[in-house]
Amino acid sequence: MEKKSIDWANLGFGYVQTDKRYVANYKDGAWDAGTLTEDATITMSECAGVLQYAQTIFEGMKAYTTEDGRTVVFRPELNAQRMVDSALRMEMPPFPVERFLDAIEQVVRANYAYVPPYGSGASLYLRPFMFGSGPVIGVKPSTEYQFRVFSTPVGPYFKGGAKPLTIRVSDFDRAAPNGTGHIKAGLNYAMSLHAIVTAHDEGFDENLYLDAGTHTKVEETGGANFLFVTKDGTIVTPKSGSILPSITRRSLMYVAKEYLGLKTEEREVMMDEVSEFAECGLCGTAAVISPVGKIVDHGKEICFPSGMTEMGPITKKLYDTLTGIQLGRLEAPEGWIREIKIK
Ligand SMILES: *Cc1c(COP(=O)(O)O)cnc(C)c1O
Repeated sequence: MEKKSIDWANLGFGYVQTDKRYVANYKDGAWDAGTLTEDATITMSECAGVLQYAQTIFEGMKAYTTEDGRTVVFRPELNAQRMVDSALRMEMPPFPVERFLDAIEQVVRANYAYVPPYGSGASLYLRPFMFGSGPVIGVKPSTEYQFRVFSTPVGPYFKGGAKPLTIRVSDFDRAAPNGTGHIKAGLNYAMSLHAIVTAHDEGFDENLYLDAGTHTKVEETGGANFLFVTKDGTIVTPKSGSILPSITRRSLMYVAKEYLGLKTEEREVMMDEVSEFAECGLCGTAAVISPVGKIVDHGKEICFPSGMTEMGPITKKLYDTLTGIQLGRLEAPEGWIREIKIK
């Protein structure tokens, strides 16, 4: 199958409609067989649970081409399991892990022409999501749901080098203790939009959210987990029940320990100790790691020794090792790379 003629390297992160998407519907207590469709639109009740009470969850992952030409996805069963966890917290019927993996495979295969070639830095972003489609007016879970997976090609995250970010400590909270911060629910993003728009207006790239209970501990940004590097080379990531368990962060912690022989700690990180770290990065599917050069805490600047021009040396090693594993240049741990056979 021919690839599309797209200027892969200059694609941004935006929606480009591709040929086919997967749809399954839940009704009368069961999921239907599911199918691929060319219809990129959704028609539903004006009273759908998602429209009235935001009953919706999602995932984000990428398909890409390895050095030896295979089409692969990275640890998709972790996305499948996380979506089950999100569904249970939102009183939605989980979409079975095996069916999730099959849906991903079908969508990648059907849109193979949009999977960017090796070396372009681009990838095919996959967006599984599920929402309450049946009518609800009294506050309760919907009785009908739709699960979909669409794909959209996205460009390289770092165009012309990874420039370190400047972020601010937000006065807004992202997630309540015992709330929904640990699941991938659309509602966590709806309520973060005001904080991100005002951060951008004030010249910051992102918000650092503190724990909502005490405002003393580092949680995460709107869409990425923190990794810090201590002056003696230990990798530290915040531990909290209201952080979204990033698959990239979990993979980087493994890589730090098993591939790079570094010490790793998942523990509470006090805002007060952040100025003592040597490097800071944000991890998520989109960028793998974005370096942070500066954190502004109500006028007080914390400038990391790694500076504002390039990634810190250990952040760079982590980035190179994980992307090397993903792209097939380094041997992957068992089960991390799932090949999608294109027939
Ligand atoms: C999706 C997401 C992340 C990153 O998770 P990955 O699995 O690494 O893509 C981090 N924080 C939040 C709030 C998220 O929604």
